[in-house]
Amino acid sequence: KVFNFSSGPAMLPAEVLSQAQQELCNWHGLGTSVMEISHRSKEFLEVVQTSERDLRELLNIPKNYKVLFCHGGARAQFAAVPMNLLGNHVRADYIDGGYWSHSAFTEAQKYCNPRIINVTYERDGLLAIKPMCEWALSSDSAYVHYCPNETIDGLAIDELPDFGERIVVADFSSTILSNSLEVSRFGVIYAGAQKNIGPAGLTLVIVREDLLGNASKALPSILDYSVLAKNDSMFNTPPTFAWYLSGLVFKWLKKQGGLEEMGKRNQAKAALLYRTIDESDFYQNTIATSNRSRVNVPFKLENNKLEALFLQQSQTAGLYALKGHRLVGGMRASLYNAMPLEGVQTLVDFMLEFIRCYG
Ligand code: PLP
Repeated sequence: KVFNFSSGPAMLPAEVLSQAQQELCNWHGLGTSVMEISHRSKEFLEVVQTSERDLRELLNIPKNYKVLFCHGGARAQFAAVPMNLLGNHVRADYIDGGYWSHSAFTEAQKYCNPRIINVTYERDGLLAIKPMCEWALSSDSAYVHYCPNETIDGLAIDELPDFGERIVVADFSSTILSNSLEVSRFGVIYAGAQKNIGPAGLTLVIVREDLLGNASKALPSILDYSVLAKNDSMFNTPPTFAWYLSGLVFKWLKKQGGLEEMGKRNQAKAALLYRTIDESDFYQNTIATSNRSRVNVPFKLENNKLEALFLQQSQTAGLYALKGHRLVGGMRASLYNAMPLEGVQTLVDFMLEFIRCYG
């Protein structure tokens, strides 16, 4: 049995894959696959409507928010956000908490004069995030952008924003659907699908209705939230297979008990892994406890000469994709919704056995 700890594209629930396999060549008795039918057919429109309804139910999305199923990945949103939201402003605040929020800032520089606000600091040799009340926001910014979970750094900002009238935009690519979420705290939420939603190729945008209609004239229509909303995310041909699979994932999540239940499970998985890391000097994680990610857990071996052996033996043991991001090195275990507790237990058993052999 294999457990895939990839940070994305990531593991999908086994039940979802099995259903997709069964339906692949003959979907809904049509004698064809879902990816071969028109996105405007009544059968596919049912996928569209059901998936949005299920997602709205899961996240309890208020009525005054549009849900957009887009192309382009989260990186397309790094450009779409400023071009949709700036209006007459030239300034936007970008909270720098790690690699991805910094990348969003870099892209925004093409469209406006973003101000970068570094919120990381060192506490007792560990990397931590300043509380939101200490974030020095500008008075003239169109919005504040941040990333609640830095997939590469393994840093999380769990505090919920409360900045009055200010529009808050958040890149939820690696934590969407991993826990319940108060959508009304945000102006725009976006997420690439390939971690917790479905296959790569689909991007989710949840945008408050009153923010539509301010797009720059230079914005390509395919990134314009108003155009996408007006066309029910069908301004051009959507990534239909990814959309269909995401719809199956939403149904699977509902069957599991919804996002509160997923939150509990994800908390239990992360606690087990961090406990194992903390209980020996053999493994190290350098993020302050209050800012540790529950879904992306980077760790190193105290003796880094053993890392190649750890990766080789873990792969042989059926524990896949544990190599850390090239910028950070070491190991990283991503524990999205589809990873069962059994997978984390198997990893932890392997880690303890590795200490017994080489510690
Ligand atoms: N933002 C975050 C938090 C991510 O983890 C990633 C990818 O891993 C991205 C943005 C970029 O996503 P995409 O490859 O869909 O553009």
